[in-house]
Amino acid sequence: MSVLYIVATPIGNLEDISIRALRVLGEVDFILCEDTRVTAKLLAHYNIKTPAISYHQHSSEAKVNEIVTILAGGKNLALVSDAGTPGISDPGGKLIQAVLEKLDGEAQIESVPGPSAVTAALSISGIPTDKFIFMGFPPHKKGRQTFIKKIVQSEFPVVVYESKHRIIKFLEELEKISLATPDLAKPDNNQYPISNKISNDKLQISKKTNLTSVVVVRELSKMHETVYRGSLESIIKKITADKNDQKGEFVVIVGK
Ligand code: SAM
Repeated sequence: MSVLYIVATPIGNLEDISIRALRVLGEVDFILCEDTRVTAKLLAHYNIKTPAISYHQHSSEAKVNEIVTILAGGKNLALVSDAGTPGISDPGGKLIQAVLEKLDGEAQIESVPGPSAVTAALSISGIPTDKFIFMGFPPHKKGRQTFIKKIVQSEFPVVVYESKHRIIKFLEELEKISLATPDLAKPDNNQYPISNKISNDKLQISKKTNLTSVVVVRELSKMHETVYRGSLESIIKKITADKNDQKGEFVVIVGK
């Protein structure tokens, strides 16, 4: 039976790949890549010569059918994204669904686990993570306020991904909304205002008491890996002050 392997690849440091992942990437007939140019660097580093096929979030139905036909023909495939675990804020789900629907029982889907920015960030955050909620990327426009409110009111720590272009905007909005929204997970804070029209007095009080504990992680496993801890206010100040702190990839963890 043919196999579609879902293979995790490094999120920065090329050494962060499992021995099994390297073997599978070397043995399959084709590697489905989010961006063939990005994966080419990984394959070249490990001298893997397997041919690549492009498969990304905008791939057409025809492309999905083409991949399903390859699997139906008995070939083995590996799906990789640009970094980390496919399917985690990355393409994968649509293809897996199609394989399950169209090749039920005729192809196997196997995980080759490895890095993901969400688990790597949580692991060094120092925030209790026996339970957490992963919310992926905040929406750019519609639903953004509601998304951030849900973070503030969550009972459990929340992890989000954010790009360098929007990290400061996101942290500022998080601060603003956390000041204006009662944290349902902290009953003591419910005495503070719900509306956006907070008087200066109340703002002072809530600023002292309702700041959520936040850890921002940048460039995990890369040369400039940095962890920002402390109050939201101080993290925003630090990242705003130096352009170098605004470069790279970010994970934000809002603790409870
Ligand atoms: N599938 C990937 C995973 O398993 O983590 C996530 C892909 S998502 C398109 C890319 C986002 O993941 C980035 O914008 C950033 O928020 C986060 N990310 C990926 N690599 C990272 C790194 N080395 N350091 C910090 N965040 C990272």
